[in-house]
Amino acid sequence: MHVMLSKEVDGDCPDPFGPCEEDEPPAPFSKVPAVRWRDWRWQIKNRIATQEVLEKLLVLTEEERASFLDAPGRKLPIAITPYYFSLIDPTNPDDPIRKCVIPRRQELLMGPGEAEDPLGEQADSPVPGLVHRYPDRVLFLLTGRCSTYCRYCTRSRLVGDRSHTSSASSKRRWERCIEYIRSNPRVRDVILSGGDPLVLESSVLEWVLEKLSAIPHVEMIRIGSKVPAVLPQRITPALVGMLRRYHPLYLSLHFTHPAELTPATRQACERLADGGIPLGSQTVLLKGVNDDAGTLGDLFRGLLRIRVRPYYLYQCDPIAGSAHFRTRVEEGIDIIRGLRGHTSGYAVPTYVIDAPGGGGKIPILPGYVTGRVEEGIALTNYAGGNFVYPEATVPVAVTP
Ligand SMILES: *Cc1c(COP(=O)(O)O)cnc(C)c1O
Repeated sequence: MHVMLSKEVDGDCPDPFGPCEEDEPPAPFSKVPAVRWRDWRWQIKNRIATQEVLEKLLVLTEEERASFLDAPGRKLPIAITPYYFSLIDPTNPDDPIRKCVIPRRQELLMGPGEAEDPLGEQADSPVPGLVHRYPDRVLFLLTGRCSTYCRYCTRSRLVGDRSHTSSASSKRRWERCIEYIRSNPRVRDVILSGGDPLVLESSVLEWVLEKLSAIPHVEMIRIGSKVPAVLPQRITPALVGMLRRYHPLYLSLHFTHPAELTPATRQACERLADGGIPLGSQTVLLKGVNDDAGTLGDLFRGLLRIRVRPYYLYQCDPIAGSAHFRTRVEEGIDIIRGLRGHTSGYAVPTYVIDAPGGGGKIPILPGYVTGRVEEGIALTNYAGGNFVYPEATVPVAVTP
């Protein structure tokens, strides 16, 4: 499969403070003036959010159309930035990006073992909007909003524009979360997530970053975001200039498919990397979207080219209505086996299952340790060869 980086960006934009020159409005948005297209607020304001607008842009499949019949029962809203929509081939009902953002009938069906909150985050929440599961780090859910909603969202129970509260009440909620972190000296790592923290206004995000970085025991802050993939226009030099004042700051980005690696996304990631922000990516393994070693290998190597290190590959969480997205775990193991050793180790993320019921992330590895033999530990390598590692034992005294 071809990695979509063919339209290379030559160095920086000619105007270092301007938007990406390469980011021209494509069909069906070619009538939109380029200055609008490159404005992240325009992208948010003009999101595709209703069946009516979708039907104007492509022919919905029967499964997609059926998902609108029970629309009042829908929990996860629909929203797709025009930019992200433009990555979809409208003539292909199997387009991978399309499956991620346009609902299908199966989304409304609750399967066995599925739950609204499969990870049991509610039970690990000491104050609203904060999940404290591991001893030394917390997940701080800043906002319920995203620029684009992924149909397989693990927090579909929480997200959506309707959960958007007044800025005064968010600030009060954030203050309680910050107070919790301040009074828990074991918390040395704070992960800002949601929703997508990068849809907040920079000044609002900075207020949180400033408060957190002033806490002496907070050693690092991470932001989880899909913005570089769905709204790269948001990654302006001004935003990066603000973020870089809060080092050590890490970004965990969400990427799904090599089709997301466009010139605009490349520029967004390079700006962040140039700001000294280490970039990792998290990918959900999705049936019919990215569930083969070829596609994921292309994605992971493509990410390395734009200085994003693949961090986690997630088995899809059993949220309500996720059966059509979930692969068998063996398929994930086979994909990791197809990558490890065959390509750069940097391109191989850790495959994890976030255990239902609050068990946290559990790494899933192909069986490289095959047992113990008399001489030591028996191992198998990427090509299927067998080896023994002799563990250190008490040396046998050599008689003179
Ligand atoms: C994923 C997660 C973290 C961070 O885990 P790392 O393995 O450190 O990246 C922290 N808290 C919660 C609740 C999480 O789900």
